[in-house]
Amino acid sequence: MAIERLHGNLSEHTSLHVGGGAKELVRVSTEQELIDLVLDLDRRDEPVLILGGGSNVVCSDSEFRGTVIIISTQGIDWVGNCAVVAAGESWDEFVRNAIEQGFGELAPLSGIPGSMGATPIQNIGAYGVELAEFIDHVDVLDRKSGARRSLTPIECEFEYRDSTFKKNPNRYVVLAVKLKLNKTIEIPIKYLQLANVMNQGVGTTANALSVRDQVLQLRATKSMLLDPLDTESNSTGSFFVNPIVRDVDIPQGCPNYPLAVGDPRVKTHMKVSAAWLIENAGIIKGFHLGSEDSGIRVSRNHSLAITNIDRGSTQEVIKLASYIRQQVFDAYGIELVVEPVLINCELDKLGVS
Ligand SMILES: Cc1cc2nc3c(=O)[nH]c(=O)nc-3n(C[C@H](O)[C@H](O)[C@H](O)COP(=O)(O)OP(=O)(O)OC[C@H]3O[C@@H](n4cnc5c(N)ncnc54)[C@H](O)[C@@H]3O)c2cc1C
Repeated sequence: MAIERLHGNLSEHTSLHVGGGAKELVRVSTEQELIDLVLDLDRRDEPVLILGGGSNVVCSDSEFRGTVIIISTQGIDWVGNCAVVAAGESWDEFVRNAIEQGFGELAPLSGIPGSMGATPIQNIGAYGVELAEFIDHVDVLDRKSGARRSLTPIECEFEYRDSTFKKNPNRYVVLAVKLKLNKTIEIPIKYLQLANVMNQGVGTTANALSVRDQVLQLRATKSMLLDPLDTESNSTGSFFVNPIVRDVDIPQGCPNYPLAVGDPRVKTHMKVSAAWLIENAGIIKGFHLGSEDSGIRVSRNHSLAITNIDRGSTQEVIKLASYIRQQVFDAYGIELVVEPVLINCELDKLGVS
């Protein structure tokens, strides 16, 4: 069946396990039906929420008054060094498949949950590698014109955890992503923590299969792999991105990293560690608001993640995230930016103390 009507709350379809119901909730498995459905809803001015794996959204506790479409279109077409991958394919399954075929460069991005269609939205990245490096083009439905288009990397406006898709949230539906890869199984290690666990230096090379193994192990220790047996992984991954600040504003002792080559701010700005800012503002792993642990708290395994170990609500997530952001602002004057997409909810405004 190409369009399947689903039941239940969004909490059952998102990795943070929060979110209320939806007027309509459907799973679509063919591209044409996806296009027809979105265009029809747009013509009727019905709100639409597109979801892949639900691993980077925080949905409001109240009902979504429109249609939530979970994309599960399938298909991977390899032509030489390029793969055209349908939006509904699992990202990590694709990475595994690519490495098996000798295309090793994606190994540092192993274990990131979710669908292929969502990967360009925030230009996923980990361990010194970003998706944008491998994009040939992104096939989209442009909801503004109703036409299908192929966007080049420049048109995608990729930046650190950002893109034209994130900046224009309701304009595009990603239908497929075309990646261009090199046939190589020896890949560079670009990230210190990964280099350390592999007992080698940054800038050396390693076999992509062992990089994938080490990355998966590292992620598991931080609950950064979705695992039904690990309640600490009931999260959106990092809740905040690493803030970008001017070189002169980097707090003393705060780890910092250069921006990607090509970013216009690369000479004057650095990314600073959001985890360091949070911990040094006094918020430790496992922190929760109030005397009772409601289930919503800072992960015990990663100070950047907010987890829902039991049956917490979006309201509690928002309260905790707002508190963390305020504490960091009060301590360092730096405004943390939320990573997941907030659906019909927002953090409290920053107060000035
Ligand atoms: C444990 C854990 C670890 C994580 N680690 C990382 C990490 O290391 N690096 C990283 O970058 N991210 C990480 N993430 C975040 C997340 O996995 C990625 O952002 C992922 O790409 C989201 O995929 P998804 O299919 O679940 O997207 P969803 O959560 O379903 O959607 C996210 C956003 O993309 C939009 N969207 C989804 N599909 C489409 C489409 N086809 N067309 C248009 N819009 C679409 C949605 O509307 C929403 O705005 C992590 C998350 C978790 C839970």
